[in-house]
Amino acid sequence: MSTVLSVSNLHKNYSTIKALRGVSFDVPEGSVFGILGPNGSGKTTLLGIIMDVLRANGGDYRWFGQPGSAAQRQKIGSLLETPNFYSYLSGTDNLKITQAISGRGTLKDIDEVLKKVNLYDRRWTSFKSFSLGMKQRLAIGAALLGNPRVLVLDEPTNGLDPVGIAEIRTLIGELQQKGHTIIMASHLLDEVEKVCTHAAILKTGTLITTGTVEEIMKDEDIVELSATNLSALVATLTTLGKQLQVDEKAGTVQLVFPKGEARMDELNRHCFNNGVVLTQLVLRKKKLEARFFELTNN
Ligand code: ATP
Repeated sequence: MSTVLSVSNLHKNYSTIKALRGVSFDVPEGSVFGILGPNGSGKTTLLGIIMDVLRANGGDYRWFGQPGSAAQRQKIGSLLETPNFYSYLSGTDNLKITQAISGRGTLKDIDEVLKKVNLYDRRWTSFKSFSLGMKQRLAIGAALLGNPRVLVLDEPTNGLDPVGIAEIRTLIGELQQKGHTIIMASHLLDEVEKVCTHAAILKTGTLITTGTVEEIMKDEDIVELSATNLSALVATLTTLGKQLQVDEKAGTVQLVFPKGEARMDELNRHCFNNGVVLTQLVLRKKKLEARFFELTNN
């Protein structure tokens, strides 16, 4: 898989604040790449640099193996801030204005873009009567003018309700299917887990980890058990010599194993042989959220 963007040892200071402290990662072509991090971790700064809106104090980035240039930027559509659309104009007319101002694409592309963001049927509806989700889809449509290979989106679901969030998630999946690479900053871990194939996690300007979402979630099996007598269950499991996480409120115990090493039948037998009858024994996939807190909290 070829590399769309390669970020290498980027540094950015705002006077005494070190917003980026040597960040490096690669974005593979065809991926949905999430840039994740708590507030103030440097996500927006990073996007500003790769879109040439901000200048780095050190390091380098390359799009398609080349240093940034006007020709390269034509291949990249971005949505860093909400564009100013005219409320009384239709989706079509708003995109005509964006196209004229930006010079990206041609008037002929507009219908194609509206179809891509699932607004073609509503193309003559005035912007003011759009739902928030539709407004955001039109903004993504504006970034798609000129059919860029890559889309860079900063917090694309910010401020949307669950329906709007689901619409954008579906749209991102569809755009990936159509061959676009998508780079998006987000602090919504659930969303990243559902839509992203790859991610980079930042904390106070430092890269904590990067890779496929599966790799980041780390290959662990988490087994959750419960029994009517929780303390007897804990006592029995303690003899296995593994670290236990006990949630008294939920009445559950969790055990962590390297991926593929949890033996559910053996655990069941071990408990039963020690006089503990399980009421629950499930294998849970680790959530990105749990991994994120582990990675950013120490
Ligand atoms: P958020 O999720 O809150 O948008 P972020 O991860 O996008 O955060 P940045 O906005 O890139 O993070 O900010 C990184 C750090 O740089 C923060 O400490 C922030 O206060 C600081 N910072 C950002 N922009 C400026 C600026 N123009 N002047 C001074 N400091 C800034």
